[in-house]
Amino acid sequence: LFITFEGGDGSGKTTQASRLVDWLVERGYPVLRTREPGGTDVGVEIRELVLHHRGDIVPRAEALLYAADRAHHVETVVRPALEAGTIVVQDRYLDSSVAYQGVGRGLDAVEIRELSLWATGNLLPDLTVLLDIDEADARGRLDAANKRFDRLEAEASEFHARVRTAFLALAEVEPERFFVVNAAEPAERLAETVTDHVAGLLAS
Ligand code: C5P
Ligand code: MG
Repeated sequence: LFITFEGGDGSGKTTQASRLVDWLVERGYPVLRTREPGGTDVGVEIRELVLHHRGDIVPRAEALLYAADRAHHVETVVRPALEAGTIVVQDRYLDSSVAYQGVGRGLDAVEIRELSLWATGNLLPDLTVLLDIDEADARGRLDAANKRFDRLEAEASEFHARVRTAFLALAEVEPERFFVVNAAEPAERLAETVTDHVAGLLAS
């Protein structure tokens, strides 16, 4: 079972992914928690480059860097885990590329999806939890966290609004894969909503 968490910056993906992992581990499931970009040693270097490089990176190069991270991550980490029967819980995957590079950066969404599918040998998640949040709320959370902004988080609110719309559109195209939740709800309640949904999947 391959479960991904998607959503804008500051939507709480990391918190919710951790909650789900704890819940699965308590029930004795073998679980791997991972993320993109940066789920491998190569990925950590790509992540630093793509998020903190001082100069511009042209959109196509940025898209290829994320795709390179994903190709290496899927082949060396994700696919082997899935084949061993491990549940993989991942922060961000190809939908982030479609939303950020495809729509946010104004590249072609279909081409970016194709690029990701090529990079991963067509690996799609079984479930994608989309944490939907208003751009202004997300910005407030990021400011409160008071950490170093990366290149993407520093983008204008108009960029993040486009990304949010893109995620919601993706969820409409694949309603059977996506589970959309309101990320403005308290973390505790959200975690319950997510685990209830996953429990349903595991029972089916
Ligand atoms: O999820 P996390 O905060 O670790 O993501 C790091 C940064 O990478 C975020 O600012 C996110 O917007 C950006 N990103 C991106 N395109 C992707 C994946 C992540 O722009 N495909
Ligand atoms: Mg972030």
